[in-house]
Amino acid sequence: MSRLDSAIRRLEAQRHCLNRAARMIDGVSGPVLEFGLGNGRTFDHLRELFPDREIFVFDRHVEAHRECIPDDRHIVVGDFRDTLAGAGARIGAPAALVHCDVGSGRAEEDRRLARYLAGALSGLVAPGCVVVADQALDSDTLVAIDPPSEVEPRRYFMYRAVPT
Ligand code: SAM
Repeated sequence: MSRLDSAIRRLEAQRHCLNRAARMIDGVSGPVLEFGLGNGRTFDHLRELFPDREIFVFDRHVEAHRECIPDDRHIVVGDFRDTLAGAGARIGAPAALVHCDVGSGRAEEDRRLARYLAGALSGLVAPGCVVVADQALDSDTLVAIDPPSEVEPRRYFMYRAVPT
């Protein structure tokens, strides 16, 4: 598969999963968390999907398109391993939706980060929260659910948080 085809499939998978997740959290209150601002594409999609929810975005730097940068209260800058510890106070309520788009393309590094996020997220999510991720997340509080049928297996991942 060409890298162009691969990139298109990834972006389509993100859109399918986020749109599905939006319908799934109708009855779940709480903010949305985005890990990986990057260019701001998925943040922009999330704010279209959730005009009435707060969206907090985490990244080590802000290098997004200038029209896709959250305001100061909603962008948390730094390594996730440093910023997640105090994130509960910042976001104010357990999250209804989490999107992790953190891959670097370096498999071992990405696996290590996914292990960290899977553990750290459990303290930030509401029961019924949907987690959409570019990496597989292994956690007792997250139950894997099938992404939409259009998404190739293991291209993107979806989970639902169970009460702890
Ligand atoms: N969702 C973005 C979009 O649609 O444009 C793309 C995100 S990009 C694939 C991954 C982002 O995760 C990068 O901006 C990178 O800086 C961030 N990132 C990866 N590891 C991180 C870490 N340990 N701490 C903070 N940010 C990290």
